[in-house]
Amino acid sequence: MSSATATPQTHAIGCGHCEDDAPAATGSGMRGWVTALAAALVVFAGALGFFAVYPVWVNGLFVAAALVGSVFPAQRAWQSLRRGSLDINALMVIAVIGAVAIGEFEEAAMVVSLFAAAQWLEAQSLDRARQAIGRLLGSAPVDVLIRDDAGERRVAIEAVTLGALMIVRPGEKLALDGIVQSGRSDVNQAPITGESLPVEKAEGDEVFAGTINGHGAIAVVVTRRRADTTLARIVHLVETAQAQRPPVQQFIDRFAAWYTPAVVILAALVATLPAIVAAQPFDQWLYRALVLLVVACPCALVISTPVSVVSALAGAASHGVLVKGGAHLERLAGVRVVAFDKTGTLTTGTFSLDSVIPLAATLPADLVRLAASVESQSEHPIAAAIVAQALAAGSPLATPEAVRALPGLGVEGVVAGSAIVCGTPRLFEERGWLTPAVAETAAGVAASGLSPVLVARDGVAIGVLGLRDRPKSNAARIVAELRQHEGTHIAMITGDHDTPARAMASELRVDSVKSQQLPQDKVAAIQSLRREFGPVAMVGDGVNDAPALATADVGIAMGVMGSAVALEAADIALMTDDLSKLRYAIRLSRATLANIRVNVALSIVMKVAFLALAIFGVATLWMAVLADTGASALVVANAVRLRRFR
Ligand code: ADP
Ligand code: MG
Repeated sequence: MSSATATPQTHAIGCGHCEDDAPAATGSGMRGWVTALAAALVVFAGALGFFAVYPVWVNGLFVAAALVGSVFPAQRAWQSLRRGSLDINALMVIAVIGAVAIGEFEEAAMVVSLFAAAQWLEAQSLDRARQAIGRLLGSAPVDVLIRDDAGERRVAIEAVTLGALMIVRPGEKLALDGIVQSGRSDVNQAPITGESLPVEKAEGDEVFAGTINGHGAIAVVVTRRRADTTLARIVHLVETAQAQRPPVQQFIDRFAAWYTPAVVILAALVATLPAIVAAQPFDQWLYRALVLLVVACPCALVISTPVSVVSALAGAASHGVLVKGGAHLERLAGVRVVAFDKTGTLTTGTFSLDSVIPLAATLPADLVRLAASVESQSEHPIAAAIVAQALAAGSPLATPEAVRALPGLGVEGVVAGSAIVCGTPRLFEERGWLTPAVAETAAGVAASGLSPVLVARDGVAIGVLGLRDRPKSNAARIVAELRQHEGTHIAMITGDHDTPARAMASELRVDSVKSQQLPQDKVAAIQSLRREFGPVAMVGDGVNDAPALATADVGIAMGVMGSAVALEAADIALMTDDLSKLRYAIRLSRATLANIRVNVALSIVMKVAFLALAIFGVATLWMAVLADTGASALVVANAVRLRRFR
């Protein structure tokens, strides 16, 4: 396990091979050759001994094999001693010296070459799990075709400036994030989103580094430097995630802190006590003590958690699900409530303006135009629908001044000298503008399942707009599956008006609904859900739900591709806004926890069994090493299955 990327540190315990040290390049490669040499010497010596050709040479060759095989363990044992801890490498070196001292040359050679083989095997499999992430994200190209006044030329990726025009030919991989300036193509975004269907891209669409251009050539204006691309952020997040230790791992570390010294003391007692107290043959008990030392290596236990977590994170990343560490995975597995934001999470977030009701002798076109002018500065999905409607009707929009977003309530600004406010009935009530007539109109709009947006000019309501949002096509199915198969309570927490919220809740068969929630109310809602049902996962669009995401036990942001803020804010980020990835994430988290439990149980049972055998003198040194290698291999094989979990 000597990977170059962020590696979980294992200090207290230490199976040598479970510990990170030298960079991977020299680590695995060199170790492979040294291991092969030690094994070859063992085989050669064995053959010589068998045919009894040069019996005097045999022991010399075994000692040589033991020496060669000890190079890496001795090096690591020394490192661990300097850190003031005793690790398995130290145990192994003591065992080899002891075996040679009592004349068990063959055993010494066997033990150490098997041990070296085990180390090599484990390093290989862990490296491979890590590389899976790198491979899946692919590496973006190193140079870029740039077009400027001087024509087209290839430029090193580092030298590309923001705003440069990047030409991407059909079939090429994109090197940087940007916005399509001209051309049209289908782009395979699977490396980032896990979504196998290509996405249509045309002028104005965002494209991402690491994705693969389809059939058209596109010209792209570069919007992010190499280190800031979505791809770079994902790679960075996954790497830091791997370095994070889940609580299970912390438990194992604490256990390890006293385990290794305890084993050394026990071995010393096994070697000396029988000879002193019961006048037993010293050689025989020394051998048992050595076996005990070797058996005691809790390698499988030490790798049981990290190898599962790394596999799960790699698998998740290939589905476009970024989990920012094993701890979040572990918490997600224990979630009892899934709380959804409504707009953009359960619904598509693409509103249509279905009803326009002017009040106070306002013309419908004026009402829409004034609202749209202020909304043109708003990020809210509702704003886009109002603006689109005004533009479609051919109304020229005025440039608003002093625009201010009122999170969860609406937006206000000044248009041609008049103060225009668009927002919820709650906002109008707070400001004292909600006359009975206005309230009744809004209630009527809400009763028909639309979200009412009230519009005021200089403190007087001039109309009510009704906007419709549709549930995502798989929302009802996912909600049902989560309740039925994952046993979670499903809550909806929304800033929308009560009536349309309830209508949506009953359409999707959500268990409980809280409406007209301001961002801070959503925090309180999560806390009360937690008190009632247990740990809560909050699913939102990441930006305006940030406080709720942070409060929940697990914050899950959806559709974060390209949004740096959302990518940073959540514990788990779903690259696309596909709700089925949410269920996948929960199932994966539970499978991972089960996988870790199996691994821990497996390693402990194997360990205890062989410790007992060693103390009663049944196990030989090489059996002990074989058992440990076997347990480690089983743990690795079990964990690797998580990468293919779907
Ligand atoms: P949700 O919780 O459903 O995602 P928000 O918290 O973003 O909703 O907003 C809550 C409510 O506030 C919306 O349903 C809408 O009525 C109102 N609102 C928010 N922003 C705007 C806006 N820019 N224009 C009009 N209404 C808005
Ligand atoms: Mg929202």
